[in-house]
Amino acid sequence: MKTAFISHDDCSHHDMGYGHPESPARLGAILNQLQDTRLMQDLEFVRAESVDPSAVRRVHPATYIQQLDLLQPEKGRIMCDGDTLMMKDTMRAVKLAAGAAVQAVDMVLSGQNSNAFCATRPPGHHAERNKTMGFCFYNNIAIAAKHALEFHGLERVAIIDFDVHQGNGTVDIFENDPRVLVCSSFQHPCYPYSHHMSYAENIINTPLAAGAQGVHFRANVESDWLNKLQNHRPQLLLISAGFDAHKDDPLGELELVEDDYRWVTRMIMDVAKTYARGRVVSCLEGGYNLKALASSVEAHIQTLSGY
Ligand SMILES: [Zn+2]
Repeated sequence: MKTAFISHDDCSHHDMGYGHPESPARLGAILNQLQDTRLMQDLEFVRAESVDPSAVRRVHPATYIQQLDLLQPEKGRIMCDGDTLMMKDTMRAVKLAAGAAVQAVDMVLSGQNSNAFCATRPPGHHAERNKTMGFCFYNNIAIAAKHALEFHGLERVAIIDFDVHQGNGTVDIFENDPRVLVCSSFQHPCYPYSHHMSYAENIINTPLAAGAQGVHFRANVESDWLNKLQNHRPQLLLISAGFDAHKDDPLGELELVEDDYRWVTRMIMDVAKTYARGRVVSCLEGGYNLKALASSVEAHIQTLSGY
């Protein structure tokens, strides 16, 4: 079974302006990187489809969804919050990114693919139930998780988030929901400065100090997550795959390298093999040094596809 690679050109039309780190060039860099590798023949390329509104309503209130549609300007840009801007092509990309996450769950749960990677933007893990934040509008990974639980009828899933920033939106949505174990490593203190103090039993926070390297990341992840994942026995593993904890990333100060992404991907796949018939769905979050992003995504997908 091939790893599904789900994307759409229109995800690159959402453009928050010159110099914004969450830029359209990010997806281009990933695709360029894959062009020259044998991974190309080992992936199943799938065109993302716009998300069904009912899947979004499982996570975000109808009023919030409506407000975002109404906010979208016909020309120019408007600020939704301090970091997140909207222009005429934004909501199309937002709906494709969430749609890809739902498609990935469908493909993996149907047994068509053992795992899937969504190369989409905007990212999602900072979006709370009714708040855009940190370049995010819809919480893609949360929409995927709820689709797996409430449409496909799974009882337990796990979300692994190794972005350098804590996935405050995902915590906001799933805090105290025993069906969803959220394991999150992040630089602390760092943006978004909220939700890292969650004491909910299903939220496993792994804060890392600026300058932490792969050896610290691996040791902390292993001791904080493995037991919890084994006790939870997730039937599907979802990854908020942010690559901004890379040593060359301009937004974070952690020191991970490609091999650390390979390691954590393999660890997640091992858990999935034991409890979830190998089923893994991964969605792109951050990663802002184009070169580091592209090579880290390559390492991640290579591992997913069994290299
Ligand atoms: Zn991030």
